[in-house]
Amino acid sequence: MMVSPECASVAKVGGLGDVVQGLAQELAIRGNNVEVVLPKYDCMRYDHIWGLTKVYEDLWVPFYDQWIHCDVYFGFVDNIKCFFIESNSEHNFFNRGKYYGDKDDVARFAFFSRAALEFMLKSDKKPEVIHCHDWQTALIPVLLYEVYHQLGMGNTRACFTLHNMGHQGITGKEVLQQSGLDVAKLMTAEKMLDPHHHDAVNLMKGGIIFSNFVTTVSPTYAFEIQHTEQGQGLQSILQANSSKLGGVLNGINYDIWNPEIDPFIPHHYNMDSLPNKVKNKQALRQRLMLRDDFKPLIAVVSRLDKQKGMDLILHAIYYALSQQAQFVLLGAAAEDSINAKFWDVKHELNDHPDCHLEIGYDEELAHLIYAGADMLLIPSIYEPCGLTQMISLKYGTVPIVRETGGLADTVFDANYSDKPYEERNGYVFSDVTPLALESAINRAIGLWYKYPRYFRQLRANGMNQDHSWNHSGQDYINIYEHIRA
Ligand code: ADP
Repeated sequence: MMVSPECASVAKVGGLGDVVQGLAQELAIRGNNVEVVLPKYDCMRYDHIWGLTKVYEDLWVPFYDQWIHCDVYFGFVDNIKCFFIESNSEHNFFNRGKYYGDKDDVARFAFFSRAALEFMLKSDKKPEVIHCHDWQTALIPVLLYEVYHQLGMGNTRACFTLHNMGHQGITGKEVLQQSGLDVAKLMTAEKMLDPHHHDAVNLMKGGIIFSNFVTTVSPTYAFEIQHTEQGQGLQSILQANSSKLGGVLNGINYDIWNPEIDPFIPHHYNMDSLPNKVKNKQALRQRLMLRDDFKPLIAVVSRLDKQKGMDLILHAIYYALSQQAQFVLLGAAAEDSINAKFWDVKHELNDHPDCHLEIGYDEELAHLIYAGADMLLIPSIYEPCGLTQMISLKYGTVPIVRETGGLADTVFDANYSDKPYEERNGYVFSDVTPLALESAINRAIGLWYKYPRYFRQLRANGMNQDHSWNHSGQDYINIYEHIRA
């Protein structure tokens, strides 16, 4: 049973949604009975749910000293069995017109975690393994161990995946009271007390300590979070739990991210029909009103967040234009100040024939960008795994990335990698400086103009690589088997 705040294609904000969808599908293909539990958000893509039906009406979930009534719905999302929890209370936990970003997010997702377990108990599901994702569901291992093991779910094990240490759910102790947990017992250094904020609860820390296995989404990030500031204050907790911690690289879903069958691109292609990629570039230019010229097109598809290297992205826009490249950005920020900055640049470059910034979230345009661009820029400050570089590789779009987390595990520099040439697939820079970024962009543009045959080879190298869930699906099954035993 997966419990998650996101699952593509019904409720997706970023990579977490893709991962839950892709992994659930892969596990099901391998013969497992997989079900996903999600909040029933008002803003989800209801058109992506097949056969939505109310299946449980009498679910009562504790919330402080009250019980809140919930309904549970069932439906298929891309063939995945999904349950959706709806809370019927004046708090309107999941009817906010957005997934995240309200002051009571902690209370909303703590309620969801408790409701998901209560549903499993009352509907007699007793899964062998509950796989939960990120701080939003980090209370599940805690509740499982402290409450639900005693209520008849003693054989259920918990696997907890850390998708991003930048969001840990650091909050007041009310969240424990709300959830019916013993505050005095849990507010200790060994349990859920945050190591750096006085008297605060750290939900992610609780998830790490109480689960049977902890994964993160790439081997390099697994190292970084234990041994560098990427652990964002939880390094020593992670080191102390290293015997049950592993880095499993995310995969991508080739039923969705595949230029041979992608319904959102006008011209399908593979390695043997690369000229069709150029037709997608023309289609992208037409759609975004860019001029048709002999220039490489560099793109960014990203949440606009400090983590993603905002200043470097802004610098890259002007630098690429100065180096005879076109630039396309598709991005949305949760923070108004970041959005405002990009709107300023958009207004400034509005009439530029080689640049288009699309500020917002647009799944279909993202597909066309991956297909139409020549290079995808990902200058992240940190990147637990990153999916966009793996998508771009599949679409023959050469990634230019900063060497961190999963980017370092999947992108190998055309000039400087110690891998054999056929495994090199992009451009990599290390320092978080404009100069380092410029050097990588320069090398990519230089190859595109001067050595097109080698550039084509670099595209082909990436397209040849397998980033499907095939390998990682088996890794997760091995972990589930290990904790079940
Ligand atoms: P993160 O999870 O940190 O956002 P990932 O690289 O793991 O980053 O995953 C990002 C996913 O979200 C990809 O599928 C990407 O195509 C998608 N995405 C990001 N921003 C947008 C956007 N503005 N519009 C459409 N899709 C987006």
